[in-house]
Amino acid sequence: MSFTTLGLREELLKAIKELGFEKPMPIQQKGIPPLLKGEQDFIGLAQTGTGKTGAYGLALLQRLDLDNPKPQVAVICPTRELCLQIADDLRGFAKHLPRVTVVPIYGGASIVQQLHQLHRGAQIVVATPGRLLDMIKRKAANLSKVSCVVLDEADEMLNMGFKEDLDAILESMPKEKRTWLFSATMARGVAEIAKHYLSNPLEVTVGGKNQSAENITHVCHVLHEKHRYQGLKRIIDFAPEIYGLVFCRTRSETQAVAEDLMQDGYLAETLHGDLSQAQRDSVMRKFRQKTIRILVATDVAARGLDVDDITHVIHYRLPDDAAIYTHRSGRTARAGKSGMSIALVNLREIYRINEMEKRSNIVFQRRKIPNGKAICEKQLFSLVEKIVQTDAGSAEIEEYLPAVMETLSAFDKKDLIKRFVSAEFTRFLDYYRHAGDINVDFRSERSDRGDRSDSPRYPSRNERSYSSARPPARSHRAPESENSQRFMLRFSGRMNHVNKGAIIRMVCEKSGIASQLITGMDLQQDHALFSVDKRVATQVLKSVQHAKLDGKTVQIEAVMDEKASHKRHPRD
Ligand code: AMP
Repeated sequence: MSFTTLGLREELLKAIKELGFEKPMPIQQKGIPPLLKGEQDFIGLAQTGTGKTGAYGLALLQRLDLDNPKPQVAVICPTRELCLQIADDLRGFAKHLPRVTVVPIYGGASIVQQLHQLHRGAQIVVATPGRLLDMIKRKAANLSKVSCVVLDEADEMLNMGFKEDLDAILESMPKEKRTWLFSATMARGVAEIAKHYLSNPLEVTVGGKNQSAENITHVCHVLHEKHRYQGLKRIIDFAPEIYGLVFCRTRSETQAVAEDLMQDGYLAETLHGDLSQAQRDSVMRKFRQKTIRILVATDVAARGLDVDDITHVIHYRLPDDAAIYTHRSGRTARAGKSGMSIALVNLREIYRINEMEKRSNIVFQRRKIPNGKAICEKQLFSLVEKIVQTDAGSAEIEEYLPAVMETLSAFDKKDLIKRFVSAEFTRFLDYYRHAGDINVDFRSERSDRGDRSDSPRYPSRNERSYSSARPPARSHRAPESENSQRFMLRFSGRMNHVNKGAIIRMVCEKSGIASQLITGMDLQQDHALFSVDKRVATQVLKSVQHAKLDGKTVQIEAVMDEKASHKRHPRD
């Protein structure tokens, strides 16, 4: 199928050609014709990297009334990065149309300039929910005449606690508009939004519901906790051309892993919630330019991170939620390419791989971490390939060649090759010379504990011996009392701009946990109560203490008896 059969106007086809898109991606093939007709609301279940911006962007540009300067379309997305990316993509598609005004509106940047841009006219507003709502309240963004709203990465917006803001935004728009919703997963909250705000939607799924992209290879390595960092290094060393993301669970771990990698000579940097916007922009610029090859990030900080060509996503620690795993791994294998998603797990975590397989239809290949010999071989051949590919005609070295030739003239060809390769290669040879096997032999570990399974490999999903060995399954949303810890967050004074979403975002940003682990939020004037999964309780307590909310410091404490705590701390 080609773009010309989709019914797009000449100007758009010309821009597509210039962008180098040869044929429409599946979501574009299936989505563009019905979106152009505009007869129905639309749900597109598609990962990032599947071309969904093109699907809705081309359709909404064709439907735009070019003579009307008022806001006609709002695209709402979770993060500043994504917002800027979408606005850029739309401008690229609209290159040959008479002037189309696209204005990105996002938090964390000067509101004055954005107000000015809105004032000058915006046919398409691309926005993050919090700032957009602010603009609506200030009457700076008038969305009362929009004919179409796109919710991009709806599941991420809900994960970030934007439900209330989204509700308020959608309520402010005309009832008869079209709503196009895109999400990687049909999580419960997304289904609720769809039920509430979409009427008779057409649903198009690319790559299977709640399923990871097809061209991702999912791999799991089992090791002892003490070998986790070594395991990471081996994976990186085994992939000489790696351009990867490493996910950790907390800011401090992210920082520590990145620092260790840098110290060990890798082109690595860290991305987490403590970085200022300028630091974040600088890290992202270096990563996009590939002067950094490995970015170590928390889930929260990596939201909206939209980079092509990622070869590896490494889960230094697994997330709590299969949906987050899907999001993480969806950063690779974009635009039809292939990629690897690699999880490092210790013995106590293996059962979670099984759980994940059940919940998300992902099948992990249980592979051994490469040993020193395999890594050295891989590096050696990569070096040889690099030498073959090197352009030897550079004029700059020409003037030094006679002297170099003179010095090396005593060696024959074979000797020379050996010396060059050894010089380049010594780092790996030295490091891995005495490196042992860090794989955990799952079978022998289990048999120490009385498991008599004879299976010589890590049992995969649906295998009885494996299921019997793992701890009893835990439901993700644990019952409040047993598996969760209640916290009280005290505010020092009146909070003017705090809603539940803002608290959830602050807790997630500070502690690096997923928003799904926060439940039962009760917001009062001077405090908020909420529960978190017990597994992350200490992490939350440590990282949220003295954090800032609405510009003021908060205090957090664990609540053992909620009634008693209410007595101690009466409401105003
Ligand atoms: P998206 O899912 O919209 O973020 O798109 C992911 C990447 O695919 C972006 O870099 C797009 O420029 C690229 N892309 C979108 N549509 C096509 C296409 N039809 N052919 C090739 N690349 C595409």
